[in-house]
Amino acid sequence: MHAKPNRLFSARNLYALGRGRIPGQVIIQMTDRCNAHCPQCEMRVTHRYERSSLDRNAIERVLEAAAERGVVAVSFTGGEPFLHFDTLIAMIRRAGDLGIPLIRTGTSGYFLRHHGKKEFRKRVEEIAESLAHTQVRNFWFSIDSAHGVVHDRIRGFPGVFEGIAKAIPIFHEHGIWPTANLGVNRLLGGAPLRLAHNPSRAQCEEFYETSVEAFARFYRTVIDAGFTIVNFCYPMSIESQPESSLDSVYLASSADDMVNFRREEKALLFRAMSQAVREFRDRIRIFTPRNTLHSLAHHYQYREEHGYACRGGKDFFFISAGDGNTYPCGFRAHENLGKYWDMNGTPRDAEAHCTRCDWECFRDPSNTLGPILELINNPRGLVKRLLRDRTWTRLWWEDLRYQQATDFCNGRLPPDFSRLAKFSLRRGASSNRDRRSQAGVCCSSLR
Ligand code: SF4
Ligand code: SF4
Repeated sequence: MHAKPNRLFSARNLYALGRGRIPGQVIIQMTDRCNAHCPQCEMRVTHRYERSSLDRNAIERVLEAAAERGVVAVSFTGGEPFLHFDTLIAMIRRAGDLGIPLIRTGTSGYFLRHHGKKEFRKRVEEIAESLAHTQVRNFWFSIDSAHGVVHDRIRGFPGVFEGIAKAIPIFHEHGIWPTANLGVNRLLGGAPLRLAHNPSRAQCEEFYETSVEAFARFYRTVIDAGFTIVNFCYPMSIESQPESSLDSVYLASSADDMVNFRREEKALLFRAMSQAVREFRDRIRIFTPRNTLHSLAHHYQYREEHGYACRGGKDFFFISAGDGNTYPCGFRAHENLGKYWDMNGTPRDAEAHCTRCDWECFRDPSNTLGPILELINNPRGLVKRLLRDRTWTRLWWEDLRYQQATDFCNGRLPPDFSRLAKFSLRRGASSNRDRRSQAGVCCSSLR
């Protein structure tokens, strides 16, 4: 069945916006099996527990219900979804046939380790061709560090970074422009990022500048490797916040020090990410919206809410491989909503109020689409918000313009750098001055 695509700004979605809803998203964890060793993730192969995978029938029923409800974005994640490659391809096709427009999936690229072997090219071509014959829009490789060897060591796959770089042009030949997905961690720049306890202002500034440079190095590395799209997954360390009452059903989090940043570190890290995005967004398409980074930095810096509540449990849902059930997100394990196809609308208590974690899959679109929802449902509130923090207002507007220039980071289209050029920051001395002044802003009021 080929259904009409459910476009983001269709009459149906505009009607939903008028009823206080934003276009839906479902993250389907196909499996919690994984063959990688990443210490920052509880699904690593060395962590022993009973593993599960969703069967095709269950995934199809989720997709059909999602299409019926007007969901616009579906992600197939893991574990390692490529361990079930045939099912993955079939389900992406099914989602596309049902008219779901934003379909995403990704991998660690474990199958690209042995890139010196004769059959390497043929293997990559087969995978690229299979994906090219689906409606997948974004296909990501998870990359953990600006240094290939550090990345390989974290994953436990020697040679995989080089294999990914070798495979990228083959994907491009097949009309697929992969995304580099960085799970932000202490080793992202190579040497560990760490801020002293009770830091002085000078130590804060040093941590900020080292972090900007680490993100910049990461951008340079993935650009050199051939990537044209990049995304940051914010550090997930919910175990470090027992007061938050979160409990992970999606085990892509860990108490490991590698992703466990303190509040003052996060305040500086989010500002550093924003600065790096600013410096590189004319050279690579960047998913990460600076309006969210601004809100998260503000939240950690001043201990007060900023930006919009997460739509997890309201418009966005997570399907767990463990029991096939639906959860408001991957981190509210105590709120089992049952089978997705049996859910009768949104649960009554699922008002958008949660800001308990920084999961970018849900926080980024909640923040970026929040003003559109508010414009329709509470225009006065929006005007007040826009006037209250003009920096945020400017960043949000810029994010919208930038995403339009990137074709909303469409991984089935090549980049058009002429459209990104207007977002260029003048480099050299001015860029360094810019970094220093940003460091001053965040370190002066960090307490
Ligand atoms: S981060 Fe990804 S690749 Fe690494 S162990 Fe977890 S699921 Fe596997
Ligand atoms: S902020 Fe969103 S992703 Fe995080 S716990 Fe709340 S609903 Fe879940």
